[in-house]
Amino acid sequence: MRMQTMLAHFGEETVHGAVVPPLYLNSLFTANSFDEMKSEAPYRYSRMGNPTTDMLEKKLAALDNGEAAKVFASGMAAVSTALLHFLKQGDHVICSYPIYGGTYAMLSGWMARYGVTCDFVDFRDLDNIRGVLKPNTRMLYTEGYSTMFMDVFDLRGAIAIAREHGLVSVIDNTCATPATLKPLDWGFDVVVHSLSKYLSGHSDLTGGVVVSSQDTIRKLTAIEIGVIGGALPPFDAWLATRGLRTFGLRMKQHGESALRVAALLDGHPQVERVNYPLLPGHPQHELAVSQMSGPTGLLSFELRGGEPAVRKFVDSLHWFKIGVSWGGFESLVYATAIGWQRDEVAGTEYESRVDKLVRLSIGLEDAEDLLEDVEQALAQL
Ligand SMILES: *Cc1c(COP(=O)(O)O)cnc(C)c1O
Repeated sequence: MRMQTMLAHFGEETVHGAVVPPLYLNSLFTANSFDEMKSEAPYRYSRMGNPTTDMLEKKLAALDNGEAAKVFASGMAAVSTALLHFLKQGDHVICSYPIYGGTYAMLSGWMARYGVTCDFVDFRDLDNIRGVLKPNTRMLYTEGYSTMFMDVFDLRGAIAIAREHGLVSVIDNTCATPATLKPLDWGFDVVVHSLSKYLSGHSDLTGGVVVSSQDTIRKLTAIEIGVIGGALPPFDAWLATRGLRTFGLRMKQHGESALRVAALLDGHPQVERVNYPLLPGHPQHELAVSQMSGPTGLLSFELRGGEPAVRKFVDSLHWFKIGVSWGGFESLVYATAIGWQRDEVAGTEYESRVDKLVRLSIGLEDAEDLLEDVEQALAQL
């Protein structure tokens, strides 16, 4: 079964021959007797399990070639639950940077309350990982394709280090998505995604998922979901399942249009640099295409004119709405000069790039309209 066929049919529960699966909008599932209630049942309470979220979990596990998946009320609920599941007081984490803002906040400050420390290093040079290894290092945490500067790094090399030192390896694959990268196939132990982006694709819900072995997901559900909660509501699971039906088709269109926009930006006199490793000519192009099976719709670029040019460009766009998040049907623009975790990159090469950077999420509008829009906004500079 290939991807679109799997998303159309796998894990579906058919009742009355209905093509669209039912929505179990339940908080609880009751029993008929004392003894029946005392016995094991797949569904008792929706925080722990619900047939609608189960169906989504089956599809998401299959999408990543994983054994099992657990969905959450947001991507950050998935990230934080995965961290809390594996880490305990005294543990050390090695995390790639720049990393998603919420994850950075959790690993740089919040987890320190519980005695967990973290080093953030540039994974483009794997010696940086070896340089901060400690006897108490427990986890390697990374993103396969970073959300602002769009860096990639050698996944195989990073996994080899994790294996050699017995570290649990966790990757946030929200950006690359399972349409272009399947990190479990590369040897990662755990994959997390925000469902709010490409996977659901319609900007109508927030959600997250952890994909891993059956054993990890069973424990994480029994322990962390039991005490922390954070389960995805069934209606949102139903919407996410509906969104997934077109996932492969959407990703093709996002990627195709993004390549055209990136090519337009590349070489434009006002553009200093295009951060899109899928574009031929990018310094990391060879590495990117050796690891990713196709392009996504997320890219960024840097304007020579700095913040004043960024402001003018952003305000001149017509079809691109200004917003955080990305991965929906609608094109979006964001600039790190509007707001970003600058402390994370203080003293690094990224610091001077923050004022110049514009990020575009290429939506599903006709590419010609998007190209014309970008072209006219650049012409204003
Ligand atoms: C959006 C995002 C998250 C957080 O997901 P939410 O659903 O917004 O909580 C985590 N990681 C990455 C890379 C993201 O882009």
